[in-house]
Amino acid sequence: MFLEDILDYQGNMIRPPSEADSLILQVTLGCTDNHCIFCPAYKDKKFKVKDFSRIEKDIITAARVLPETRRIFLADGDAIAAPQEALLKILDLLNEKFPKLSRVGVYGSIKSVETKTPEALAQLKSRKLGLIYLGFETGDPEVYKMINKYGSPRGNIETCLKVKEAGIKTNVTVILGLGGSKYSKQHAINTAKILNQAQPEQIAALTLMIIKEAPIYKMLKSGEFGELDSFGMLEELKNLIENLGDFRCLFFSNHASNYYPVNARFPTDKKQVLEDLAFIIKNRDNDALRPEYTRGL
Ligand code: SF4
Repeated sequence: MFLEDILDYQGNMIRPPSEADSLILQVTLGCTDNHCIFCPAYKDKKFKVKDFSRIEKDIITAARVLPETRRIFLADGDAIAAPQEALLKILDLLNEKFPKLSRVGVYGSIKSVETKTPEALAQLKSRKLGLIYLGFETGDPEVYKMINKYGSPRGNIETCLKVKEAGIKTNVTVILGLGGSKYSKQHAINTAKILNQAQPEQIAALTLMIIKEAPIYKMLKSGEFGELDSFGMLEELKNLIENLGDFRCLFFSNHASNYYPVNARFPTDKKQVLEDLAFIIKNRDNDALRPEYTRGL
């Protein structure tokens, strides 16, 4: 039996790789921002909070089928944008129905997390919301402007620090190749700089994949955007890691979009990861890379 056959999953659903073993509960549709030029994820959906009766039904069904569930991920792309009252109701029901629940994770757009007060975040934390996935994408102001994302690199640091202050862990996503060949170096260096200030508990470095549905596709076709090749992406990854400070975090670059998987504990594994990357880049070792046709979003 597949969960998609018994739960109400609408449209294309995306979850972080680290939530592969979590129960995915779709409480909202789409994303409230939905302007980022590289992101095709929710272009077919208008943001909406599902009816509580529908969510309640899914929770009861899932609790009957998977009563031992410890981790739950709330989808879609910006589930934290649901009104606070709705989130509290959902979390209360999850705590009631899943006695072994240890952590709830959620994607949060910067726009939505920014509006949460420290008190609101503390309320969520007290109901086991333990991890918020935040998309920084880049720390470089020029690249940030180009991608048409809400907010700013500086504002994103503050949002991340506010979440951490409430005792909720953060997983920050950045995207390799987002500045293209033109901004690659400054994208890597400035992204490392804001990560050094925000010091999230987890960093996820994805790799840009351009598909037709994303607005950046037109820039690629017109020559306005120069895409990095696989080794350019690895150079950028190396550059980013070299510029990261020695704060403690889990560093993931093991998403389906990445050419080379990194799943490391920093700063302990940093030297080894850098040596491995340097070796692969120097030898143009294609065998170490994920084949292009197996990459995915
Ligand atoms: S905020 Fe995230 S999910 Fe929403 S459009 Fe931007 S990248 Fe996509």
